[in-house]
Order: sequence, then structure tokens, then C-alpha cells
Amino acid sequence: LELVQNSKDGTVAGSLLSVLNRTRSIGGMRLLRDWILKPVINKNQIVARQDAVELMLKNKLSTEKLASVIKYITDFERIAARIELGIVSPRELGALRDSLKQLPALRNILENLLSDVSPEKSVLLKRLMAGLQVSSEVLTDLLSSLQENPPTLNREGSIFIDGWNEELDHIRTIRRKGHSWLSELEASERSKTGISSLKIKYNGVQGYFIEVTKTHIDKVPDYYVKKQSTVSGERYITPELKKMEDEVLSAESRENELELHLFNELKEKLKPYCLQFRSIYSRLCVLDVLISFAEVADLEGYVRPKIVEEKVLDIVAGRHPVVAQLLKGTFISNSLKLDGKSQCVMLTGPNMGGKSTYLRQAGLIVVMAQIGSFVPAEEATVGIVDKLFDRMGSSDDLLEGESTFMVEMREASHIVTNATERSLLLIDEIGRGTATSDGRAIARAILEWVIEKINCRTLFATHFHELTELDCYSDVLSNLSVGVVEDGDDVLFTHEIKNGPANRSYGLEVAKLAGLPQALVNRARELLNEDKATSFDKNKYTHKQIAEKKVEAGYQYEMFSPLVTEKIVEKVVEPADYNKLKDIVESIKKTNLNSMTPLDALNYLNDIQKQAC
Ligand code: ATP
Repeated sequence: LELVQNSKDGTVAGSLLSVLNRTRSIGGMRLLRDWILKPVINKNQIVARQDAVELMLKNKLSTEKLASVIKYITDFERIAARIELGIVSPRELGALRDSLKQLPALRNILENLLSDVSPEKSVLLKRLMAGLQVSSEVLTDLLSSLQENPPTLNREGSIFIDGWNEELDHIRTIRRKGHSWLSELEASERSKTGISSLKIKYNGVQGYFIEVTKTHIDKVPDYYVKKQSTVSGERYITPELKKMEDEVLSAESRENELELHLFNELKEKLKPYCLQFRSIYSRLCVLDVLISFAEVADLEGYVRPKIVEEKVLDIVAGRHPVVAQLLKGTFISNSLKLDGKSQCVMLTGPNMGGKSTYLRQAGLIVVMAQIGSFVPAEEATVGIVDKLFDRMGSSDDLLEGESTFMVEMREASHIVTNATERSLLLIDEIGRGTATSDGRAIARAILEWVIEKINCRTLFATHFHELTELDCYSDVLSNLSVGVVEDGDDVLFTHEIKNGPANRSYGLEVAKLAGLPQALVNRARELLNEDKATSFDKNKYTHKQIAEKKVEAGYQYEMFSPLVTEKIVEKVVEPADYNKLKDIVESIKKTNLNSMTPLDALNYLNDIQKQAC
């Protein structure tokens, strides 16, 4: 069904997830994916989600506000895990703080949204809102301790704000004094020496030093002690600078150590609250997904499906969510009604008519309904489905050592053994991976099994038109087909589903559309006509008998080109007879019928008969 990834390249493009996903948070997107893969079978749970979506749809302004706040929420489920592991960074705690700061705003918007709503219509949103709170102790710690933009590494310092810890403040004062003293020293040394380009610099290897360019070396006073020569000048230290360096550097390292210690303390303090963080985040994700549902419903014109417990699937003017989005306004909507009377629909019709699309559409609408989303239809009633099985297309699993047909049968076996009365089955062209007669027999046997033993809602698309007769034997089976308009050798697909079976598959017309050479298509049509005119069991008759029966049935060999005719005649007639036949034909060709009397002609015919026997 391409729920969360397409079957072409495995990406999310073209999947149901891609249509429904307008989430703002990573967690929201993860949750939506989860929901799509695990639809709900509890009616109350589905209805509660629908109520929330409906409310959001009706209050677009509040929904927009909610969305704009959620946009700034970070993935703090991951941060909670990192706190528990003790590897969280100051920057991550800053992001957690910024996200938690949004909770009061979110609660406010939700309160407004829910102000005039009846309690039974606001179950889910109220529950979500109630959990959007964090213990004030934690919040105070986070809000009033961390810098605006804490660093990524916890050894870099600058994690905590001034005023958070007395000792830290004291050390910082020393360090800052040291820094301002250094700039004062730089100014005074410049004026003392008259070297305007003199600079006090720092590097990790040499610590603090005074740098003088080559042009001013002669002005350097005696108390400067040389530390290093460079290409452009010399580096010096003075006793005064050395003393200050010790003070500043020791203050800096003490500050870093203390910040690290305080940070570890904060991490430990937060550990017991991780469960709470997770719970808050999961609520935010639910909100995010519900907002996404409301936005998509609004944008795509989806409706709220009625959820019932009965075995019903009633879709009025439904659309395939992905194909309809792709085709914009040109998608043809179609209805479907599965209920107590008609549980199983057999769908026939031309290749390319839209059978698979119709089957998938039904499955996707059920999934959407059971995750709480609105659905692409004018109206829909969805009886909760306990399991959804689909057998679509064929693909080999060569790596697993299985052929196309093997995969098809293995999946069919899984369906017939696991489906229940409440399941929904979408079976598309089962049995096409083997000889027609075997495939048809298997398809029919599966269909009979589904109807008699499972008795669940089923959509069964097939090109085995003989199976459409089965509706005579079963009350629950009805035939639908995809519309097509014929125009000479060409066909036009209307993509409309109508009652009753189709009489053929229009494979040749589709082959022509696909660009097969006209002569090849013509030849295929000849063969098709031959098959239609004569169909004899090859196990019962020899080739010769079949040829005879074909002639009896009025079959015309002229259908073939002379070359092919000769080959067929050679093949179906014994060699001795073939020579006799050739002589007779030659003699007929030479005979001048115009010069014959009726009696001559009769005698001639008598001769030929003798020759032939
Ligand atoms: P086949 O028997 O060859 O597998 P099919 O009958 O299953 O064909 P689909 O694969 O469902 O046909 O549809 C073929 C194409 O027709 C789709 O790719 C889609 O573009 C178009 N199509 C299907 N249904 C509709 C629709 N309802 N409205 C508009 N276009 C449609």
C-alpha cells in the first residue's frame, strides 16, 4: 500500500506518510509513521482523535498558533535519554529549557480552544493539556541557571549565568579583573616604551606575552625578558605580567572546573524528571500529528468518516490520497459499498483502467480512518477492520530464493490462514504468475475460500473473466468493473467504477498505447481471434485433430500469412498426407472451371475425393 515508503526507491515520496505529514517536530513525524503502521481498532480512541481534529479544523487561528509554537520544540525525548545516560551537553539542556518554556503558551492556546466545547468532544485535547506541565523546581533550575546560548562542550565554561552560584561569581570577578588589568598594562607599556604597536597576547603554549615588531626592538626596555623570536618580531615577559598570568589562568581553570561540577550536579538533579519530560514530549507529538491531520483535511478537502463496529465499508466518491494529490483535479472519484449484503466485490476491467488504484484507495481510506485522520471522500462509513491484508503486484525475492509466483502464493497463504471475519482483503490479480489455467483455478479456489470460510470484506481484482460468473452462486459476491470507451482499435479509460462485470481486458489496446509496433499488435489480434474461434483441449486432441476441428468450426487459415500457413499445415498434417494435399491443390489450381459442364465438375470432385482418401 506504500504506507510509509514507496516501492520504487524506498523513500517516503508518494507514500501515505508523505501526504499526511505536515508535522513540525521530529517526534511528531516519528509518531505519525507509527500511527500509520499501527492503526487503532478501538472505536473510542479513534473518535477521540477525530474530535480533536474536527475542533482544530473549526478553529484554524488557534491551530495555527499551536503549530507555530510547536515549531520551536526540540526533540527532547532524545535529550531525556542523554540525560539518563549522563552524556547530555549544555547546549542540549538549553534547548530543553527553551522548549519547556513554551508549555504555558501552549496550555493557554488549548484552554481557549476548549473553552466552549462539551466534555465528551474534548477528551483527548483535555488529557493532552493536563500533561503539559513540568515540576516548578526543575523549571526554576533550568530557567535561572543556564546561559542564553550554552556551549556544546561542558568543558568550555560559560554554561551558567552570573548570580546563579556565589563561588562561581567570585572566581569570575577575579578573572574579569585580570583581563581588564591586562588591557591596562598594555596601554601603560605602550606609553612607557613609545611602541604604539605593542600588544599583550595569549596562546596555549606560551601563556601571556608582550609582542614587539622588529622595527621597534631597539626601544624594548631592560626589564623585558625575551621568550621567543618570530619572523615579524620578538615576544617578551615581565615579572608583573607573569604574576597576573598566574592569577588569571588559575581563575579560568577554577571557573571551568566549578562549572563542570555544577553542570554534573544539574544533570543528576534532572535525571528523576526524565520520565516527565518524555511524557510531555509524547503529548506534544500527538498534538503535532493532530494539527497535521487538520491541516491536510483542510487543504485536500477530506471529510470525517463515521466509525462503526459493523462489517461495513461505505465510501461515497472516494479518492486515492496520493494519486488524487498528484493528478490534482483530474482524478475520478469512485464509491464503494461493502455491507452485510455485499461483502465481496470482484473487480474486472481493462488494464490501466484503475483497478489497483481503486483497491488501494479503499485500503488507504480504512487506514486513514483508523488512525483518526479525515479521509478523501464526500462521505464515508468505516466499520473497524481488525487486520488489513493486501496482495498487490508481484515481485521476485530472488535473494531469498523465491520466484514471483512463489512469493505470490506465500502471501496468499498468509492471508487465508490469518484473515478473520473482521479483516479487509485487497487481492489484486492473484494467480497471474503461472499458467493461465492453473492461475485461474487457484484464484477461484482462493475466492471461494474467502467467501465461504472467512466471510470478510474483500476486494478482488482479476483478469480471469470467467470468475465473474461466480456471483450467480454467492449472495455476498457482486461484480464491479472499470469503465472504458471503445473507439475503433483505441480505448479511452474513464476510470469510473460501475456495476456489473467487464467482458474483456483490452490488453491489445493497452499494448498499442504502450508503443508496441502496429504489425505486432495486428498479429496478436489474429492470434486472439483464432483462440476465440477455437479453443480445444490440447491434452485431449492431437495437433491434427485440433486442425480438423478448427476447419469444422469454420476456421480460416487465410488469417495467417502464407509462410505461417505453410508452417502450420506442415505441423498439423502427416508428411504423406501433406504431399497428397499439395498435389490436390496444384491440380485444382490448373483446372479451368469455366470450360467444365456441371457433370464434369462433379466427376472431377469425385476424382479428388478418391485421391484424398
Ligand atoms: P493493470 O490491470 O494493468 O494492473 P489497473 O487497472 O490496475 O491496471 P491502475 O494501475 O490502478 O490500473 O491505474 C493505471 C493508471 O490510471 C494510474 O497510474 C493512474 O494514473 C490512472 N488512474 C487510476 N485510477 C484513476 C482515477 N480514478 N482517476 C484518474 N486516473 C486514474
